[in-house]
Amino acid sequence: MSADSFLLTGRGRLLRPEPYDGPMPWAILVRGGLIAWVGARAEATDTDTITDLGEALVTPGLVNAHTHPAYVGDRSDEAAARLAGAPYTGGGILRTVAAARAASDDVLRSAIEGRLRAELAAGTTTVECKSGYGLSTAEELRHLRLIGEAAEAVSIHVVRTFLGAHAVPPEAASADEYAATVAEEMLPAVAAAGAAEFCDIFCDQGFFSLEATERILRAAVGLGLGIRMHADQLARTGATELAVRLGATSVDHLEQLDAAGVAALAGSRTVATLLPGPAVVLRGGLPPARALLDAGATVALASDANAGTFGTWGAMPMVIGLGATLLGMTVGEALMAATSGGAAALGLGGRRGAIAIGADADLVAWDAEHEGAFALHLGAVHPVRTWIAGAEWS
Ligand SMILES: [Zn+2]
Repeated sequence: MSADSFLLTGRGRLLRPEPYDGPMPWAILVRGGLIAWVGARAEATDTDTITDLGEALVTPGLVNAHTHPAYVGDRSDEAAARLAGAPYTGGGILRTVAAARAASDDVLRSAIEGRLRAELAAGTTTVECKSGYGLSTAEELRHLRLIGEAAEAVSIHVVRTFLGAHAVPPEAASADEYAATVAEEMLPAVAAAGAAEFCDIFCDQGFFSLEATERILRAAVGLGLGIRMHADQLARTGATELAVRLGATSVDHLEQLDAAGVAALAGSRTVATLLPGPAVVLRGGLPPARALLDAGATVALASDANAGTFGTWGAMPMVIGLGATLLGMTVGEALMAATSGGAAALGLGGRRGAIAIGADADLVAWDAEHEGAFALHLGAVHPVRTWIAGAEWS
């Protein structure tokens, strides 16, 4: 066997994310950074390197399918004001835009790197990273480039999303004029530079209209980008139905989703990505996780770590716990939503978020023996060993 081949074995719970129910101990063969085989230890091919994980709970590396890491500055004062009764208008985004535009490459890259390290330290091996605090062609391209550089420095899987339509910048004459700039100038530049895999938009009351959203996302599809959407968070606008109609890979937030929206998602291939962190911090209602699951929709859980509404990086273990407590999911469903569901939300189903033959060997052994710990020890379950593409992270 070559040096890049090794066997992991254990007698604890193995969630692939479906529970392994074969003979114990189990074994996972990793070869060339991929999962080559999973089954009973007694049937495994021997390799030179065998690592025994004992009784530890083992899962795929977590997939955090929604984050906004390209910022500097602190908006804790806004959070305090909101919790004291000030409404959430999203206006604080422009405060972060001013700070991010003023930050040097080194300062912004190092802020992003620190956030990616926090994700990896908490068991996330794939993280989606949005731009959206630049809001000009040059700044959005710069932020996407710095996200890519930070990802290389940290050795974590990153999926980049262009979110030029996060807010309307102060220099734009109107939301419509800015939407035209996003569709006709920014998106072609992002696509030509190969700077992002997805295009996202904040389609909500006070932000981008359904018309502007359709224009921008159709342009993105025409340029070969995947599409995703912030939708039905602040108001029920029908953004979810638009996302389904356009074939979006994921539609995110959904705090205001009603039965019609649930039905639209259940009959589609669009993943419902739920974000309990900002839902708690904003006290703006909870997404209908139980109804979505019962209707047969694919559900992902992600953190939405960002500058203004949920500032915690490395929060995915807590997000799983919140899914299982606050959102009414079972712990197994919540863990699945944070692994295979997250992968589906990034168009990476079968390659990430699963311990399956041919998937990247992204694995976490936790300081827990059962996944119930994510609920019982809310926010305090930690990796003891992590592998990413077959390489152990330390
Ligand atoms: Zn977001």
